[in-house]
Amino acid sequence: MNATHLECSLTGERYEAGRVHNLSKAGKPLLVRYDIAAARRTLTRQSVADRVPGMWKWRELLPHDGEPVSLGEPETPIIALTNTAARDGASTLLVKDEGRLPTGSFKARGLAMAVTMAKQFGVERIGMPTNGNAGAALAAYGARAGIETVVICPSETPEINVTETAAYGARVYVADGQIDECGALVGKGAAEGLWFDCSTLKEPYRLEGKKVMGFELAEQLGWEVPDAIFYPTGGGTGLIGMWKAFDELEKAGLIRSKRPRMYAIQAEGCAPMVRAFERGDEFAERWEHAATVATGIRVPKAVGDFLILRAVRESGGAAIAVPEGAILQAVDDAARDDGFLFCPEGGAVLAGWRQALQRGLVRHDERVLLFNCANGNKYPLVDRSRKLVLGEADPAAL
Ligand SMILES: *Cc1c(COP(=O)(O)O)cnc(C)c1O
Repeated sequence: MNATHLECSLTGERYEAGRVHNLSKAGKPLLVRYDIAAARRTLTRQSVADRVPGMWKWRELLPHDGEPVSLGEPETPIIALTNTAARDGASTLLVKDEGRLPTGSFKARGLAMAVTMAKQFGVERIGMPTNGNAGAALAAYGARAGIETVVICPSETPEINVTETAAYGARVYVADGQIDECGALVGKGAAEGLWFDCSTLKEPYRLEGKKVMGFELAEQLGWEVPDAIFYPTGGGTGLIGMWKAFDELEKAGLIRSKRPRMYAIQAEGCAPMVRAFERGDEFAERWEHAATVATGIRVPKAVGDFLILRAVRESGGAAIAVPEGAILQAVDDAARDDGFLFCPEGGAVLAGWRQALQRGLVRHDERVLLFNCANGNKYPLVDRSRKLVLGEADPAAL
């Protein structure tokens, strides 16, 4: 194992590797650090290409040793949306489809890692607030690891997530508040020793699973990062994780210094990062009365706010808010144009790219990668079917 220590993301204070952690003493996320010089000796373009595909092949830059708790996480494909690109006059548009992972969302990568670590450390019970997908992934990997799970969701959490989470045997509660308020209750239980708190970025290993998106896309694109990445931003673990991954890849000699511009996409009904970005703030204030159809990015307050804003600014990207109508329109358009069903958060990302084109933030000939973080089939869709009485039907009129 190459993890040497963990580090407070704000103060740089060091913490011991190989044990459970939550936030640093400063109340900020911890980041896992590695002996990258050692990793370099065995982690090469060739060795990576020769390994069994999947997130676990990046072992030199992952915190676990031994058998992972795994449901067979595939490498997710990058798909060209040719007609969607053409509709807006762009030459290419790529989407990395994380909906192919177990439990139908990219949360599987993070929770596979967090649960693997928790099992290694002998954790018996995990608590988590969730808008849906994280709870389902926690419950699935928890079931596999023999760890009990307690999941608290806001009332607007999609029904399918709530029932799926319960199907894996988790204790699921639907509560009358936002995700950060559910998180406060989970924190209280953790302080009382009832369970281990696995909230976004309050546990350091989930991020290490999510950063694999960055490793994987670099390899898939021939070790050449795209010009821009558009990411649906709630707690921001994916964006922060990829930013960390690119640094590690460069230090390991696998990519050069070029970085993609990172675009954090939020819904107008919950856009704390966009507001902070536009004001030039380092931290983001809580967003009151958060509401959007894209529930995965309905996060009023993120503990990693400054890490999201730093990555976006350092990369030369931006934080962009999109209206609800544009989200639904984008989902509709891509489904009809390219046969690709985005989840609503993915629709927000496509809408964000369209807005960025119009504002001149990206060019029509740039290589842009969008993220679709969940399977579109997990969400309610409009019923556009028509009724038919078979005895009276004239096939020519259909
Ligand atoms: C959780 C989630 C997000 C937000 O991910 P973060 O990396 O935590 O910002 C986006 N889309 C979907 C579908 C999600 O489930």
